[in-house]
Formats: sequence, C-alpha cells, structure tokens
Amino acid sequence: MIRVLDPETIGQIAAGEVIERPFSVVKELVENALDAGATRVTVRVRGGGLTEIEVADDGAGIPSDEIALAVRRHATSKLGGAGDLTGVDTLGFRGEGLASIAAVAQVTIVSRTAGDEIATAVEAHGDAVGEPHPVAGPPGTRVVVRDLFANVPVRREYLRSAPAESARITSWLATLALAYPQVGFSLEHDGKPVFTFAPGDDLAPRLRHVFGAQSSTMVPVRGEDARAVVSGWVSSPGDERADRRSQLLFVNGRLLRSTLVGGAWAAAYRTFSMVGRHPYGVLYLQVPPNEVDPNVHPTKSDVRLRHGDRVVSVVKDAIAGALRRGASQRFATAVSFAPPSSPDAGQPTADWADSFVPRAFGTGGANGERPTLRVLAQVDRTFILATDGDAVVLVDQHAAHERIVFEQLAANARASATAEPMLVPHTFEVRPDEAERLDATLDALAAGGLHVERFGERAYRVTATPARLVHAGRSRPFDVADFVECLGDDVRGLDADQRVWASLACHSVVRAGDRLEYPEMTALVERLQRCENPMHCPHGRPTVVRLEPEAIARLFKRV
Ligand code: ADP
Ligand code: MG
Repeated sequence: MIRVLDPETIGQIAAGEVIERPFSVVKELVENALDAGATRVTVRVRGGGLTEIEVADDGAGIPSDEIALAVRRHATSKLGGAGDLTGVDTLGFRGEGLASIAAVAQVTIVSRTAGDEIATAVEAHGDAVGEPHPVAGPPGTRVVVRDLFANVPVRREYLRSAPAESARITSWLATLALAYPQVGFSLEHDGKPVFTFAPGDDLAPRLRHVFGAQSSTMVPVRGEDARAVVSGWVSSPGDERADRRSQLLFVNGRLLRSTLVGGAWAAAYRTFSMVGRHPYGVLYLQVPPNEVDPNVHPTKSDVRLRHGDRVVSVVKDAIAGALRRGASQRFATAVSFAPPSSPDAGQPTADWADSFVPRAFGTGGANGERPTLRVLAQVDRTFILATDGDAVVLVDQHAAHERIVFEQLAANARASATAEPMLVPHTFEVRPDEAERLDATLDALAAGGLHVERFGERAYRVTATPARLVHAGRSRPFDVADFVECLGDDVRGLDADQRVWASLACHSVVRAGDRLEYPEMTALVERLQRCENPMHCPHGRPTVVRLEPEAIARLFKRV
C-alpha cells in the first residue's frame, strides 16, 4: 500500500537525487519496475531522453485507487515507519522518484494489477495530478515521460549532447542487467533496437555487451562465509585494463562503489597482473540487508558495510581462487604439457628429483588426449623452444624459474616450512648502505626459509637456506650484493615480503645465458605448470609465449 511517509522518517533519509538529466529518469523508472518484481523491462528513448522516455514492465502494477498517490512526494509502498530503514531491500524507498520526474516533465502512468480487469491511467505535470481514468492495457506498468526540462535552461545543454546521454543510458542499463539475469531487458533509441537480453541464467550476452569480446575468457568467482556470499566473473590474468572503471560491484542488487572491496580486488590480484594494469569484472555481494547502509546519498560513492574486514577476506579469497583457476586454464591453452614419459624425454636430474611429481593435467591429462609439449631446444641460452605439434611455444627460462622459486618461498612462508641448516655457514660482507637495506629484509627472508644473521659491522652469515628450493642449471652461489641492489626496485602490486621473495627468486635462479640440459628444461616447464600463476614472473612479465600457426603463416606471407 502506498502511504505518505511521516515527517520523522523523512527526516532520517537523505534527500534523493533530483532529476538532473534524462539518464536519472530512466534510472528511477527502471528501478521502480524491478522493485515491482518485473520479469521483462522495455525502455524506449527518443531524442536522448528529452523528447520521450518510456519504461514498460510486467510487474505487480499499482492499484487504481493508489495511482494518484504514487506521484506525491514522499509517498511510497516500500517503507513502513521509522526504524524500518535498516532492512530495506528495494532499490527505491524515498517516495520521491515519480514526484521529481513530474516536477520537470509531462508524466503519464498506465498501470494494471493482476487482480484488475482494466488498467488505470493518470497524468501529472508539476504539482498538477489529473483524475485517474480507466484505459485498456496489459498487467504491469508503463510510464511515459515527455518534454523533459521543457521550461528549464539545462535542457539546451542536453539537446546538444543527446548522443552522449543515450550512451550513458545504454551503458547503465546493460550494467544493471548483469545484476538481474532473471529479468529480460530491451532498449531502443529513436526506434532502433540497441539490445534485447532474454531472461535466464545465461549471462554471456550481457557480459559481452559490457566487457567486450574478451569476456569469453572471464572466470567465475564464488565464495562465502556464514554471512556473506560473493559470486561473479573476473577477467583472467593477462587480460587487464588500464584503469579500475570496469570493476563492477553489486551489493544486494545495487550497483555501488566500495573502496574496501576495491582493495580486496587489488590484494587478490597482486602478483597476477602486469604492473599498472587492472582486472575487470563484476562481483555480486549478498549480505544481510541490515549490514549495509542503504541510506547512502545517491551521489555519495562509498558504501558502508558492517563487518567490512570479514567481507573483504571472503571477497579476496574468492577472487584469488578464480584467478588461480583462470591462470591455469590459460596456461593449459598455451602449453599442454605431458611429463617426460616418452623415451626421448630423458629423466630428471637428481637436483630436480625431490620436487618432481608428475600428475595429470586439465581434462585430457597425461592420457595423451591432448597434444604433448615437446621441448626441442634451448635458444640463445635464454629461451626454451618447444612445440605441441600445433604451435610453437617459447618459455623464458629466467622468468619461468623466477616464478617457480617465488611461489616456493611464499609456500614455505605459509607452511612455516623448515629451513635447511648449513653445516658451514656462508659468510659475506656488504657496504654500510647495503647493510641497512639488508637488515630490513631479514625477517621476510627468514619467513621464506633463508636465515641470515649479522655478526659484525658489515659481516653476515647465511645459516640456513630455504627447504625444497628448485635448482636448475649450474647452482650459483647466492649473489648477495646483487640481491641487495635489487631490493630497491619498486615492484608495485607486491607487499613487502613478496618483494623480498621476488628479489631472492630473481637472484637464485637460472639466468639468461645459462646453458640448460634437456631434462632440466623439461622439468622447468613441467614445474611451471604447477604454479598458481604460471603465466607471469613475479614482476609481471610473461613467462610463456605461444606462436600459433596463423601467426607463423603470416610471417611467411601465406595469408
Ligand atoms: P519509491 O520508489 O521510492 O517508493 P517512487 O516515487 O519512485 O518512490 O514510486 C512511488 C510508488 O509508486 C512506489 O512505492 C510504488 O508503490 C509505486 N510504483 C512506482 N512505479 C511502479 C511500477 N513500475 N510498478 C509498480 N508500482 C510502482
Ligand atoms: Mg522509485
């Protein structure tokens, strides 16, 4: 039932957005349709919204005796009295939408409830509300808004920018459609269809409209704890944008911004992305309605969440899990690797033996259904050349080994793995300025398994080394000076510990220029496959490049 809110409640709610632009009209009307439980929403826009906006739905409809009240300010069916505000789960609740639109345009509402035989129409403009009268019409509600801003100077501004306003409406509605898969949406501009999304579970057409063709490689996100559920789709590692604008968040069906959740996204993405690039995607967060403050001013951007820290960790874990899956999927497309069981593959060397655990990969796995990656040669003592019979695959030996060691150090730290004590500690000296930088890393190094102690002015000794570290090539003595030098490198996206591990990994692994034996190359690629993020080194550079036959054909000018 539509009632006018009591002054106490009105005082508690932030004033809604005034209708400033054609887009705001579309937003109010579509949100009303969704609140009414519509399963189909049709939007028609003419002249960028200034000439006409029509929104039709098949929702609950407005009872004929309440339709005139609907356009009164602060009249809503969505709130009871004060205190009711905490559990709001509708998009509107201020009772201002229709009244604000009528204040600046000619409004016609035609509505019919399921129980009524016939629809009721009412016209409103400014303060004047006409007499409701019966008309023919289907169940649901249709609102037509004409001559928006007819008497208002801003109209001229929007007249000039009609295409821009149409674009704004299109992108908003397509984005909203992501949050309501069970609702069909269609949009028309000046009589021309822009999109029609059928109701149903298949989000693909909507994802494609919002994120583009690359959306087919997005990976699903899912996570929950006792009070929060997060789901959605994120871009797979390696597919990023230059800004964060394509990170969408719906909290209980509302499109909102949250610096907290944005931070969770960034944290999960650390070490997965190239520096300065951002993943894109859409997240749906469901929390109990009373844990999110719905009374954010519409123009205020940051939503407040109770138990924000807990929500953040659920979101972060869910995204990180999805990214891991996405990374291994991408890697599987780049490199379908089978362990060296064929005679020509040789055996792993002793160095590798303890870390080498063959396992089945992907769907086809090691049963030979998928092409097997064959390591062919080392090129320029820098790259591993391989093929799966289809494409040429190149692996950067240094970047790949760096990734492997980096993840081992991180795993050591997580598992509080034991370090291997050195029987004869390795001692070394550094310059005073280096000593200062090295001191700052000792804890992180120890967490990764490298125990270094200071025992003099500039002298240190290594007493234990990380357990289970993979070695390859000629084991080189750990080049401390070079390591310390590199600590200064600012690797954005890594936390302090990760930065130390990335640097340690960088200085304890094979380099470009190291000759590798065949079994070492084979094992290196296999081990890379088991990384959480095999596609990039800790600094974000690619580890693997795949050259498809089409690309090779182009080199030979065959196409
Ligand atoms: P609010 O959405 O904040 O309640 P509005 O002014 O937008 O305020 O709408 C006033 C009331 O009119 C709503 O509470 C609802 O009862 C009714 N109403 C508006 N649009 C529709 C619709 N499309 N379908 C059914 N009821 C509607
Ligand atoms: Mg409303």
